[in-house]
Amino acid sequence: MADRRRTPGSQTSLREANRARIVDAVKKHGGLTQVELAGATGLSPATVSNIVKELSGSGVLHTAPSTRSGRRAMHVTLAHKLGLVAGVHFATRHMRIALADVAGTVVAENHMPLAKDHRADNELDRVMMLLADMLDSVDASMSELLGLGIALPAPFDRRNGVIARRGIMRGWDNVVVADVMERRLGRPVFVDNAANLTALAELRLGAARGRDDVIVLEIDDGIGAGVILGGRLLRGHSGLAGEFGHTVVVEDGPVCRCGNRGCLEAVAGGPAILDSLSDARGINKLGDVIVAAMDGDPACIRAIADAGRMIGLATANVCNLLDPERIVVAGELSRAGELLLGPLRHAVERSVVVGRDAWPDIVQGQLGIRAATLGAVANAVDLIPLHPELETA
Ligand SMILES: [Zn+2]
Repeated sequence: MADRRRTPGSQTSLREANRARIVDAVKKHGGLTQVELAGATGLSPATVSNIVKELSGSGVLHTAPSTRSGRRAMHVTLAHKLGLVAGVHFATRHMRIALADVAGTVVAENHMPLAKDHRADNELDRVMMLLADMLDSVDASMSELLGLGIALPAPFDRRNGVIARRGIMRGWDNVVVADVMERRLGRPVFVDNAANLTALAELRLGAARGRDDVIVLEIDDGIGAGVILGGRLLRGHSGLAGEFGHTVVVEDGPVCRCGNRGCLEAVAGGPAILDSLSDARGINKLGDVIVAAMDGDPACIRAIADAGRMIGLATANVCNLLDPERIVVAGELSRAGELLLGPLRHAVERSVVVGRDAWPDIVQGQLGIRAATLGAVANAVDLIPLHPELETA
């Protein structure tokens, strides 16, 4: 980020821009050697070495000798002591919260169930209490918290900071969550859609790491997707890219919670899977369906396979549009493993236009139920100003 108050191209603005490039690269990769930093930023090894030395001196970066492939190198990360960042994931029925340092090491974690129709004001109060407890548990104070990331399970409009469609989370309608929480916390707060943040976490730490073009599907009660193109998360014009669950797959299908009819989520999301099973089975949670299916229950296996086929059909359409190299399947239903992935993969391969040699590989996510929380932390670290001198742009 160049300082707009200075003449573009001046020595000072160039140096500041180079420092920001290095900090951004370290944030993005979570730590890398000086040689890798030169490759990632396009700066010369001598410039990288000088700037790393300066930023280590001012406490922004931390360097430690390492040996990789038998060669000695200097490994560069953000300095842990810069402060702490929190991430919260509000799912439909539970909340998960993590406290991490800026280098991404989680130091405390907690989770709790949520009432069916949870409301923003109550839940944001609970986050404040949980955060205070968690900071206490690691002997830290609120003053050491640099900011908070929040993941919401709904399409989120980044232009006005509210959930894009009324009625999906009634208790959160018209609430500008970041503003409300910033007033309570006195720290910057960054909100995004949970599927986007799951994709960001899988990109940085999980099954999409090192890949450029990946679709991350999040399949729970709702269905969402995060789209990574050219190594970056695609957000779209209003931040609503990846509303995969609301693509229409059955023109006159059941009414979806978004108000449309025949959305993928309405025919293959958690409630649709439960509805397809007889009440007499006593199964009332998605987790129970997965356990029964893994135990060999034919009806539950079939219900998951049917959802997998529907999701695969919709995924094939996205593949034809975007040509990803990999599909990562995350969210609670991904715990079913090949019971879901097999039928999903088969449906993709049947309908995708590219030849067999270019089929995307379809794999399970690596971060499990923590993905969106870790993504909320990573998003906050990306967006929080970490060094006043660097953030004067
Ligand atoms: Zn819908």
